[in-house]
Amino acid sequence: MPVKNRFAELLPQITEWRRDLHMHPELLFDTHRTSGIVEEKLKAFGCDEVVTGIGRTGVVGVIKGRQTGSGKVIGLRADMDALPIIEDTGLDYASTEKGKMHACGHDGHTAMLLGAAQYLAETRNFDGTVVVIFQPAEEGGGGGREMVNDGMMERFGIQEVFGMHNWPGMPVGSFAIRPGGFFAATDVFEINVEGRGGHGAKPQECIDPIVAASQMVTALQSIASRNLDPVEQLVVSVTSFQSEGEAFNVIPQRVRLRGTVRTLDEGVHDMAEERLKAICTLTAQAMGCSVTIDYNRNYPVMVNAEEQTDFAAEVARAVAGDCAEAPLVMGGEDFAFLANARPGAYILVGNGDTAGVHHPKYNFDDEAIPAGCSWWAGVAEMRMPLAN
Ligand SMILES: [Zn+2]
Ligand SMILES: [Zn+2]
Repeated sequence: MPVKNRFAELLPQITEWRRDLHMHPELLFDTHRTSGIVEEKLKAFGCDEVVTGIGRTGVVGVIKGRQTGSGKVIGLRADMDALPIIEDTGLDYASTEKGKMHACGHDGHTAMLLGAAQYLAETRNFDGTVVVIFQPAEEGGGGGREMVNDGMMERFGIQEVFGMHNWPGMPVGSFAIRPGGFFAATDVFEINVEGRGGHGAKPQECIDPIVAASQMVTALQSIASRNLDPVEQLVVSVTSFQSEGEAFNVIPQRVRLRGTVRTLDEGVHDMAEERLKAICTLTAQAMGCSVTIDYNRNYPVMVNAEEQTDFAAEVARAVAGDCAEAPLVMGGEDFAFLANARPGAYILVGNGDTAGVHHPKYNFDDEAIPAGCSWWAGVAEMRMPLAN
């Protein structure tokens, strides 16, 4: 099963959908226009059921196979949201919304899953049920979590989930995947250090929160360098260091630190949080300051299940002849919430030699559409083959 001919026929139309979405990017849960288009098309394709408003603006379509005796139900998921970036591509179909841009290719993801849904609704060459999932708010809003919390898995009886992301730097239409922890957990923290402010020339009368916070920043580096097994992955980055006041001659009362922790393993995840809190609490104590630590676990580690990953790679080989081993990614991915709820696999499809995702010159490559759509269709047909 190489690239399906039907997708070569549908390519101009899917490209047109993609470029229209590109011109009208929407952020987080505000995907009203996009969700409306998805709903309208899924209904036009003849999906057996189309449900809106799951996870606020998420849309779900149900497509039953020619046979359903297998009892299998698989979820295929695309993301719909854009980013708060000023587009700098110069494309004739560039964003018409100032400060909003499809810089992560979710326009391509939505268009490809729509193309696959059209094909699957036309052909229905599978024994089971396909649930196509269009989620809002992948870029930091936890749209996947909202859809799962809305009872999506139970409501549609979803047993397994599959996802796909375009990947700059990989040949267009090629595939890569890996089992286990794939995309990182993305925690954020805020540390407020309070000392005693005063005259910059009288430090003996003050408790300097800048010195205390500086020791914390340095000591936090030891979590990755001294507490972690060197073969594991961890990022601890302090990304903001702000004191109250800007005067040359005033020791401030407070300092606020912000940053992020990235991990690919839940054990490392727990260790990093515990060490961060201990280091900040005890450093503050040593320096005579008080401290409050606000630590938030945002996206969990995105874990590809072994069996589903092997299968996803098999489909990729059927489409593209090969499937590479993907690199670990320290960025987060909202698909983690779906893959935590049901066994799943997330695959990368090559976007060619383009600017990276989240860059103002990034663009999804429409040449990847036939491969991406064929993979989606292959997941349904090969996972739930028709009985003779
Ligand atoms: Zn992104
Ligand atoms: Zn993305």
